[in-house]
Amino acid sequence: MTHAFPVHSDTQAFVQRQHRMLIGADWRGASDGATLQLLNPANGQALAQVPAATVEDVDQAVRAARQAFDDSPWSRMRPRERQNLLWKLADLIERDAQVFAELECLNNGKSAQVARVMDVQMAIDSLRYMAGWATKIEGTTVDPSLPLFDGEFHAYVRREAVGVVGAIVAWNFPLLLACWKLGPALATGCSVVLKPADETPLSALKLAELVLEAGYPAGVFNVVTGVGAVAGAALSAHPLLDKVTFTGSTEVGKLIGKAAMDSMTRVTLELGGKSPTIILADADLEVAAAGAASAIFFNQGQVCCAGSRLYVHRKHFDRVVADIAGIANGMKLGNGLDPSIDMGPLISAKQQARVGRYIDMGRELGAKVACGGEYYGPGYFVQPTVIADVDQQCPLVQEEIFGPVLVAIPFDDMDEAIRLANDSAYGLGASIWSNDLAQVHRMVPRIKSGSVWVNCHSALDPALPFGGYKLSGVGREMGAAAIEHYTELKSVVMKL
Ligand code: NAD
Repeated sequence: MTHAFPVHSDTQAFVQRQHRMLIGADWRGASDGATLQLLNPANGQALAQVPAATVEDVDQAVRAARQAFDDSPWSRMRPRERQNLLWKLADLIERDAQVFAELECLNNGKSAQVARVMDVQMAIDSLRYMAGWATKIEGTTVDPSLPLFDGEFHAYVRREAVGVVGAIVAWNFPLLLACWKLGPALATGCSVVLKPADETPLSALKLAELVLEAGYPAGVFNVVTGVGAVAGAALSAHPLLDKVTFTGSTEVGKLIGKAAMDSMTRVTLELGGKSPTIILADADLEVAAAGAASAIFFNQGQVCCAGSRLYVHRKHFDRVVADIAGIANGMKLGNGLDPSIDMGPLISAKQQARVGRYIDMGRELGAKVACGGEYYGPGYFVQPTVIADVDQQCPLVQEEIFGPVLVAIPFDDMDEAIRLANDSAYGLGASIWSNDLAQVHRMVPRIKSGSVWVNCHSALDPALPFGGYKLSGVGREMGAAAIEHYTELKSVVMKL
């Protein structure tokens, strides 16, 4: 493996090794020996091979997790010890932060520099935040009335770990999405089987190594790499699972939700989005245009809450579109290992073709391509693109493109802006750009999305719940809400 830009020797060694999955205490290949080929999105060349887990492998991983939860030192561990282990894991990720950043870059295409300060740092911060929760999980005492029973009673409600968690994640933030699930699971005392995305399993395998180094008992964390329709489907439908937590497309999320209902497995679904960026008449236009550009072009637009629909007050529409186009035209595309780039390639040829089809559709529909619009190789590059003169009902505005493509539409008043913003099957995030506090406060309750940002976009924090309204999902990650999703309540009534 040679790279035009040098990587840390540990990264090089990690990528080149023969990769194995972690099941219980064992590092194993797939039971049938099958492997999955990974490609470097920057050039389309072979990067590494990982095991393609079979249904049997997934079954063994779930059984290992089941045993760790039901009967192991893990199940008897005190909150303080769980807190310390999680903190230790965060420290180890910090120690190897550069390697993680480079793995994310080589495997996903994203900028290594951005991955270091964003993906990896947020993963560390989220684990530390959740470490604090391990010692703060509380029940309640209740004074019950119990009219049909005589005597005195003591009643309380315990909050207990939900059990064995199956975690399935997407490829856009491989380490971070895994840690958003791992943190609350390990803080509450659950055990986990993680199925990383087909395309991006490397950081998950590195994470598994550090979980063992931190001192977690075998079986608490297992990783099965492989194909979604095989390994992911087997995991989400496994009868020994207590909870499934999924980050990915709405289409697959629906399948997982339905499979979970057959066994009443608890379920959290973090799904797609088509988030609006709304620029009001009084906004600071320069700041808003820069914010809108970063809302869509960050991570090549492969962000579930990317600001992919732009609504601008009509009197500023042309200027804001021109400003964003100017920013886009100045962006340098290239290999994510190059510290001077602004955007890397998309994840795969398939994703590049999908995004390209939407751009072509825009042209065919007579929309105005204000900038970008080209896609090319080698590697899976798509120029940052702004499309204006589109109809609110066309697929470019209604469907998730999941690439660096912004559609822009003008509005005339606040009611129209809210109507357009809410006219979507999704409801993950929204940003409002304005300095009129009264106006903003009137708008916030009327926006149908799990997050609303004001004069910023995609501002995520481990203490703030994140998740979607409508087709964007069920449940929340992060914050106290995540702890609730990884625990069950048990009412205890005792006759004295
Ligand atoms: P995807 O749904 O194709 O795949 C996600 C994961 O599901 C992968 O690990 C895949 O292997 C697995 N999978 C695929 N088919 C499966 C099946 N039949 N059963 C079980 N598992 C299966 O999504 P993607 O293309 O990897 O990711 C992009 C999508 O993820 C976008 O829609 C994006 O908005 C969404 N996403 C949402 C959030 C959020 O927090 N809401 C965050 C990141 C990405």
